[in-house]
Amino acid sequence: MAHLVEPPHQVSLADYESIAQLSSAVRELRQEAESLLPVLDGHRVWMVNSTSQGGGVAELLPPLLSLMRELGVDANWLVMESDDPAFFRLTKRLHNLIHGQRDANLGAADRELYGQVSSDTAEMIARHISPGDVLVVHDPQPMGAGAMLRKKMDIEAIWRCHIGLDRETPETRAAWAFLDEYGSAYDHAVFTAPEYIPGCLAGRATIIHPAIDPLSHKNRELSVHKLVGILAAGALIAAPGPMPTPPFPQLAERLQRDETWAPATEPEDIGLLHRPIVTQISRWDRLKGFLPLMQGFAILKRELRQKSNLDEDHRRSLQLARLILAGPDPASIEDDPEGKEVLAELRKAYAGLEPDLQDDIAIILLPMSSAKHNALLVNALQRCSDIVAQNSLQEGFGLTATEAMWKHAAIMGSQAAGLRQQIRPGLDGCLVANPEDPREIAATLDDLLRDPGKREMLGRSAQQRVHDEFLVFTQVRRWLVLIANAIK
Ligand code: UDP
Repeated sequence: MAHLVEPPHQVSLADYESIAQLSSAVRELRQEAESLLPVLDGHRVWMVNSTSQGGGVAELLPPLLSLMRELGVDANWLVMESDDPAFFRLTKRLHNLIHGQRDANLGAADRELYGQVSSDTAEMIARHISPGDVLVVHDPQPMGAGAMLRKKMDIEAIWRCHIGLDRETPETRAAWAFLDEYGSAYDHAVFTAPEYIPGCLAGRATIIHPAIDPLSHKNRELSVHKLVGILAAGALIAAPGPMPTPPFPQLAERLQRDETWAPATEPEDIGLLHRPIVTQISRWDRLKGFLPLMQGFAILKRELRQKSNLDEDHRRSLQLARLILAGPDPASIEDDPEGKEVLAELRKAYAGLEPDLQDDIAIILLPMSSAKHNALLVNALQRCSDIVAQNSLQEGFGLTATEAMWKHAAIMGSQAAGLRQQIRPGLDGCLVANPEDPREIAATLDDLLRDPGKREMLGRSAQQRVHDEFLVFTQVRRWLVLIANAIK
């Protein structure tokens, strides 16, 4: 089955335009749309995916669709449904294989099942669409249905693949061999990074990066009062009073500069110091590299005791630095045994650290009961951090990096393909070559911690890069250009 979904009401272009920092991006989007509308006019655009709630794609589609609509494009959303759990188990296997994981044995029964559900879905979608329309199909679940429709009808079909691995393995080969007959029916394909394009789609593929919405709860500007309220509500600092308690002294400093909040007091008067905060926020997944990051931080702190030749500012910065490792509370996520395991490993390693090191490291579980509250906590944590790490062994894109860059944190990423797309080393952040090497992580953190000027420079450039490349406006522009070119 496939049904129509109305994108929930999002902020409008006028809301974005009222923010000085965003007005030029909105203007450029309006201009681009105006020049393309004559081509797009009369063609309906259908975005098709497999869920209206939960997961990155379901989060990304509403702002994309509502901005397209506001610009005058007849953009619509269709969600495919199947009551066959075996189908979604199969597409989950395909998903894992495209990431290079798990068994590569796909057999005739799998092909039969995929073909049957795709054909049923194609029938449902056909009730909505007409010749001349543009079908944008997201990920492997509805890919077969889109391919079947493209073969039967005079439509343009684009396949958007949100996943990928930057090398070929027996698993990726098996997945692409399975999907090849469907992929070959599409006019265009869209990937997140050039490394993810499989041979069977080379020559027909374009890169469009994921993007963030600067007015979402996760990314919008937060007043100091709000920051305090959010961190207190998440029990990350004591209840708001005239002065929050550590671990966020940087926030306390900001508070003191804010005359509407607290009478001006010098931080030293109440014993507060600026303590640089290094944060990583991710799912508890081994591929996110939490453990080597913690080990690298521990090496840095231990080396400090042995080094006698550091200048005073450098020593002080290393001495005061804290590490925050945050992720979703696994108790609130169903069916995530790996998350629980990874967290237990990390806690075990933490328990083995020297007590003074433990004092400088916090493992924080973010409540997931409300998506809004969780997003605000992520936002607040990123805004209170001096350095945001994303030490991933593998990363499709790494929205956490984009989010932190937008908040002008100095970022320490890895060479994972998705992070390389975003961070130009030395310009917008630093990239460790081997995220499993705690020594290299320690050296990179040291470099950033010793130099607040460098952090500031990297953070500013990172924010500009997100402004230019990874905000939702750029994404909408790229989609409009691609769709218009497909129609022409
Ligand atoms: N995230 C969150 N709460 C958490 C941990 C992560 O909301 O406790 C968000 C994070 O802000 C980002 C998304 O989950 O928007 C993760 O996307 P990313 O591309 O970084 O990694 P993925 O989890 O898709 O591998």
